[in-house]
Amino acid sequence: MREKEFDIVIVGSGAGGGTVAQELAPLCKDGVRIAVLEWGPKLREEEFTGREVEMANRLYFDGGGFLNRDRSMTFAFARAYGGSTVVYTGTSLTIRPETVNRWGVPGLFASDLVERSQKHLRSNNVHLLEPDKINDNNRLFHDACKKLGYMVEQFPINVKGCQGSGMCNLGCPNAAKQGTHRVQLPAAEAAGVTVVTNCKVERIDDHAVVATVANPPFGHASAWEAGEYRIQAKVVVVSAGAINSPALLLRSRLPARLPALGRYFTCHPALILVAQHDRQITNYNGHPKSYYCDQFTESKKFLLETCMYFPFVTAKNLAGFGEEHASLVTRMDTLQMILVLAIDAARRENRITIDGAGNPVIDYKLTPVVLDSLYESMKVCARIFFAAGAARVHAPAGRKFLIEASEQGKLDDLIVREELKPGKVSITSAHLMGGCRMGAGPETSVTDIWGQVHGVPWLFVADASLFPAAAEINPYITIMSLADRVAERIRTRAADLLRK
Ligand SMILES: Cc1cc2nc3c(=O)[nH]c(=O)nc-3n(C[C@H](O)[C@H](O)[C@H](O)COP(=O)(O)OP(=O)(O)OC[C@H]3O[C@@H](n4cnc5c(N)ncnc54)[C@H](O)[C@@H]3O)c2cc1C
Ligand code: SF4
Repeated sequence: MREKEFDIVIVGSGAGGGTVAQELAPLCKDGVRIAVLEWGPKLREEEFTGREVEMANRLYFDGGGFLNRDRSMTFAFARAYGGSTVVYTGTSLTIRPETVNRWGVPGLFASDLVERSQKHLRSNNVHLLEPDKINDNNRLFHDACKKLGYMVEQFPINVKGCQGSGMCNLGCPNAAKQGTHRVQLPAAEAAGVTVVTNCKVERIDDHAVVATVANPPFGHASAWEAGEYRIQAKVVVVSAGAINSPALLLRSRLPARLPALGRYFTCHPALILVAQHDRQITNYNGHPKSYYCDQFTESKKFLLETCMYFPFVTAKNLAGFGEEHASLVTRMDTLQMILVLAIDAARRENRITIDGAGNPVIDYKLTPVVLDSLYESMKVCARIFFAAGAARVHAPAGRKFLIEASEQGKLDDLIVREELKPGKVSITSAHLMGGCRMGAGPETSVTDIWGQVHGVPWLFVADASLFPAAAEINPYITIMSLADRVAERIRTRAADLLRK
């Protein structure tokens, strides 16, 4: 096994890891050695082909279809230089103060997160897309919500030179989306941080990590040769995401008792709902996500967003098969889509564990409350689709595969709660949160409010796993704000933490 030595090692390069790397990078000029170890590859520009299956397999864990233990849901999260920010859509919302107050973590204030969010909105070039760049799929949602009297807002997004190719979730082929692979990591590298790709951290030892470097046949070569490494570090920051951070800590020999490790996992269980128009609409051209509706966030615990997915994902999300199924997927150019995000509660029993080989296992159960929210959302979305002029709507819990516009008065009869069965209806998630939640003490949390693991002064967590409960909005800006706090704590304690 080869030996390396750094002062600070950051595991993972996504929204959390990329932010910590950039925020700590100024220490490099004082001689502090910082490395980011990233499991995924750094693709070459020409390798962002926009081909759905190829990109899904290269950029996502399990091709984007990671299953929970009871196989009732799929989870999408990426493995790449830039983590899930390579495949996210780039909608950039600031957390609502009500949510932070609901979290109720002593010492963690909404005003602090909002202020830090402002900084990241600026550095990621977040702005509203110009009206002439908004396509039919988005405009129809907006106009229908207005017609029905629902609140609807435009998403701020983080693009530079967006060409509306609609492939954000396959990795932007036009280098427009401002993920950490475009902003934070290049800035950190320019300041002296070493980023090692294709490097999986297997476990954390006392002031060290053990990692394996591989050499896949695509992407830039890793900075290190293939093989096994033991890397000494005075400080380790775990930013491997809400599935892999708890899993990594669980398979490490930590000198602390952490009964909350892996627990309180939340994920905004999601439905992708589809309707068909009798005419072509612009949907796959243009930025996919321009509007959201939070009319029902408080009352019915779901949020609605525009979306447009690719043929394979769309096909997987329709309940049914055969000719009816084909009637939708062969006419993608007529489809309108809405993404539903249920706001799920943080429950101790929803957790990340590991199997015998140390791989993560998601134990997540859909509660009746979440299923009720998803059911209500199907009826609301059907109303929105019909108000937008759709000819027919596919409700996955419908008595029929397609509900015709002429039947829109009978939605309560045609969309049936009993039909919303996990396993029959495709439920997915891309907002993975918790598992190393921050809080007051080790019984109910894993880190303090600055991301330091309870009882282990040299070990920090900085990613979505820190969330005490669901973000209730798209989370990446809040992840950056939490990571910003972690970096600040390490900087202010650098003299102690980095002592020889
Ligand atoms: C398709 C999709 C669309 C999304 N759209 C939006 C959006 O529009 N707006 C929004 O706010 N959020 C969005 N999100 C969510 C957002 O991208 C994530 O919440 C965020 O990136 C999570 O940040 P993170 O640092 O926790 O983890 P990640 O960004 O996932 O980064 C974790 C990194 O750690 C690496 N890693 C894991 N284990 C190890 C290990 N053992 N050794 C070394 N490296 C490891 C992984 O390879 C990965 O690169 C989206 C997510 C997806 C999947
Ligand atoms: S829509 Fe814009 S940000 Fe998304 S992939 Fe296309 S160019 Fe990139």
